[in-house]
Amino acid sequence: MVNRRIVEILRTGQPDESVTIKGWVRTKRELKDFAFTEVNDGSSMVSLQVILNPDLPDYENTLKQLNTGASVEVSGVLVPSPGKGQRIEIKASQVKVYGEANPEAYPLQKKRHSFEFLRTIGHLRARTNTMGAVFRVRNACASAIHEFFQERGFLWVHTPIITANDCEGAGELFTVSSLNFQNLPKTEAGECDYSRDFFGKRAYLTVSGQLQAEVMAMAFRDVYTFGPTFRAENSNTSRHLAEFWMVEPEMAFCDLSGDMDLAEQFLKHLFKSVLEQCPEDMEFFNKRIDDSVLSTAENIINNQFERITYTEAIALLEKADRQFEYPVSWGLDLQSEHERYLAEELFKKPVIVTDYPVGIKAFYMRLSDDEQTVRAMDVLAPKIGEIIGGSQREERLDILEKRIQSQGVNPEELWWYLDLRRYGTVEHAGFGLGFERLVQFMTGMGNIRDVIPFPRTPLSADF
Ligand code: ATP
Ligand code: MN
Repeated sequence: MVNRRIVEILRTGQPDESVTIKGWVRTKRELKDFAFTEVNDGSSMVSLQVILNPDLPDYENTLKQLNTGASVEVSGVLVPSPGKGQRIEIKASQVKVYGEANPEAYPLQKKRHSFEFLRTIGHLRARTNTMGAVFRVRNACASAIHEFFQERGFLWVHTPIITANDCEGAGELFTVSSLNFQNLPKTEAGECDYSRDFFGKRAYLTVSGQLQAEVMAMAFRDVYTFGPTFRAENSNTSRHLAEFWMVEPEMAFCDLSGDMDLAEQFLKHLFKSVLEQCPEDMEFFNKRIDDSVLSTAENIINNQFERITYTEAIALLEKADRQFEYPVSWGLDLQSEHERYLAEELFKKPVIVTDYPVGIKAFYMRLSDDEQTVRAMDVLAPKIGEIIGGSQREERLDILEKRIQSQGVNPEELWWYLDLRRYGTVEHAGFGLGFERLVQFMTGMGNIRDVIPFPRTPLSADF
C-alpha cells in the first residue's frame, strides 16, 4: 500500500483504490452507527474525510483518541463521497494513532482564531487553514523565483550574512559580536574596542547582498541572491520585519530600462506560477482574506506596469484631491501613503517610479547627466506600496568616489567595490524584492508577521 499525499488523492484518487495517509486530525463527528474524521497532511487546504465503521478493530478506543490535533495513519479503500464538498473519501480498515492531543488543552479547536492569537501559538499555527495556505503559496513563490532566474541563465550566488560593511545605508544594523558583554574591552577613548572582537573589527548582519552580488555579476553577468537580510529598524508596522528574505538580481551590460523590464516580467511570472500551483489556496484568500486577490493577480499578469518619473509623481501627488499626512515636495522621499495613492487609487496597477532626487538615494545609484537625479526605480504595488527597489549602478570610478565621500563614508573601506570600477567596469543594474512583501501582496494578508513562519520584530523573537 503506497503512502500518498492527500492533495494527490483528492485530485486523482479512484474508487476501490487502497491508500494509506498520514496526518493530523482536524475534526471528528460521531454518529449513531459510525463516525467521520477529517485528516490533513498540509498538502492541501481540503482535508480528506475518513469513515470509521464499528467493525474497525478497537473502534471505541480509537474514536476516543481521534481528537483534533492527534497524529494518525489511516489505511483503507477510497469510495465516492455522497456528501457535498468532496469527490472521494476513505473507508478506514485500519487506524493508528501516533500521538493524542488532549481536547481540554489543545489550543487549536475548530473555530476561527484571530491572527493575533495565532501569533502567540507560533508553534501550532501552521496547522490552520490560513497559515497552511500562506506557507504553500510562499513555497510555490520561492520555487517560481528560482525557476524564473534559472530559465534565464542567472546564477544563484550566496552572499554573506555577516558583513563588515556598515555603509549600505539601508536602515539600522544589528551588530554581530562574540565579546563578553559583562566586561567589554575599551579603547583609550572609552569606546567599545571592536579590534578585540571576533573579526577584529565591528561586524553586522547584512541588510542587503547587493554589493557582493555586484562582484559576482562582474564575472557571471547575470546573478541573483535569495536569502535572509536583517534590519534593526524600530518600525512596528504591518510591512516591516527585523529579519526578512530578499531577492536581488544583478545584471552586467544592463541599464535601468532593462532592469525595469526584468522586474515587470518577474512579478508577472510569479503571479502566474502561483495561480497555477496553488489555485485552491488563492481562491481561499480571495474568499476569506481579501476579495481583490484574484483580480489583483489578473491585473498584474495582464497589464503593462505604469512607468513615471519621480518628478511626474510629485506633480500628480500635488494635484491629488486629498490631504496627505506627510508633505509632498520635490526632494522629499515618497511615503507609503503617497506610494499607495499612486498605485492603488490613481493608476490602479503597479507603478514604476524612476529618477529620484540624488539627495534621498544611496551612493551606488547612477548619477544622471542633470546631476539632480539618480537612475533609481521603485515598483509600487496597490495596498503594499514599495515592493521592489532597484537602480542602475554607478559604473564610473571618479563619480562613485565623490558620491561615497559626500555620504561621509571613507572610500578606502570600499576599496574592493571601487576595484570593480577600475578593472573591466561596465554598466549594470539590479533590484531588491522583499519576499514577504510579495507574499503579502499575493495573498492579501494584512500583516507581514503572518506570511513568515517565525516573525522577528521589535520585542518579539519567540519560537
Ligand atoms: P521601506 O521604505 O518600505 O522601509 P526600503 O526603502 O527600506 O523600504 P530597500 O532598502 O529598497 O527598502 O529594500 C528592498 C526591498 O526590501 C523593499 O522594496 C521592500 O520590499 C523590502 N523591505 C525593506 N525593508 C523591509 C523590512 N523591514 N521588512 C520586510 N521587507 C522589507
Ligand atoms: Mn526601510
